Amino acid sequence: MNKPLASPEQEPCPVCGRAKPRADKNRGPCARETPKNNRMNEDIDNFLTGQLAHWPTAQHNYAALSRVRVKTLDVDGTAFRVQCNPARIVSSAARVDERSIRQRACFLCAANRPAEQEAIRALEGRYDILVNPFPIFPRHLTLAATDHMPQRIAPRLADLLCLARMLPGYTLFYNGPRCGASAPDHAHFQAGSRGFLPIETQWTSLPAERLGGCGHSSLYGLNGDLRRPLVIDTADEAEAAALFHAVCQALPVPPGHAEPMLNLLCWYDTPHWVLILFPRRRHRPSCYDAPGDGRLLCSPASVDMGGVFILPMEKDFERINAADLRQILSEVCPSAADFDELKQRIRSAWAASTSNPLLKEIP
Ligand SMILES: [Zn+2]
Repeated sequence: MNKPLASPEQEPCPVCGRAKPRADKNRGPCARETPKNNRMNEDIDNFLTGQLAHWPTAQHNYAALSRVRVKTLDVDGTAFRVQCNPARIVSSAARVDERSIRQRACFLCAANRPAEQEAIRALEGRYDILVNPFPIFPRHLTLAATDHMPQRIAPRLADLLCLARMLPGYTLFYNGPRCGASAPDHAHFQAGSRGFLPIETQWTSLPAERLGGCGHSSLYGLNGDLRRPLVIDTADEAEAAALFHAVCQALPVPPGHAEPMLNLLCWYDTPHWVLILFPRRRHRPSCYDAPGDGRLLCSPASVDMGGVFILPMEKDFERINAADLRQILSEVCPSAADFDELKQRIRSAWAASTSNPLLKEIP
């Protein structure tokens, strides 16, 4: 009598702990469904069109987006765009301290959303795809967990990869609970039109220092950029999870925080994901609270790190210059010395993790 095959549940991924479907044995643990990419892009486009037709707030803000003022600033050879976007005051000036969060109704929970806001269910009902009514991108979505759970990246990295594969026309992003998320109490990603953020193309021309990798994946530190980006270029979800874990092991977790401070971008070009991770040492720069004329309402998150700074105040947009941006980045991103130390810790964390027999280091 043949031995019965083990059920998928009996074979958890040794890296991320999720059930690993037998048919996907060589594809990593998280290929839970085959997305119908073209159909999904079409569905989302129709969804956005429908929402703009029936939701006055979204309609007004998307129409205003086509008229926003934009300027380009060169910071040490890197081009940044600055977008003057008054509708984003809701995010830039959001109070995200614990008390304020407790006292407000969560705007990502279905029960509290505007009556006009509709949703497309994704990932077996665990996420709602929503139109973001305060857009930065020509197409701007919020991907909200259907449960009210805190914003955390480690347990949701696999979801981010799945959602990025489902939405090839988009760059997805994650703002840490203390790094720009205006709903730190409700897990969510956002997604914006691909090709909008300068970093999507800039990163390939920055000097890349390989910090680790295995079969289908590499992890790099990008040098010569004030944002100190780290990049995971991967064709395998389990390897991506292992590399991301090594980075998180190496990053400090400040007292009182639940995870390292970071912003994360992710997009999918068959068969590769690119994840760009920006370690942060501070959420808001000193100019955010500066008195008088020194005040600049600038609250950097993933989009700003991606190369498009969002300023809701017209007077701030008028006066901001390259020196201001350089100062802001130097305050919210690691210093060059801290980045060197971080890269060394990542190498060590990765070397320690490669004792896992599934992840052989390729010299
Ligand atoms: Zn909620």
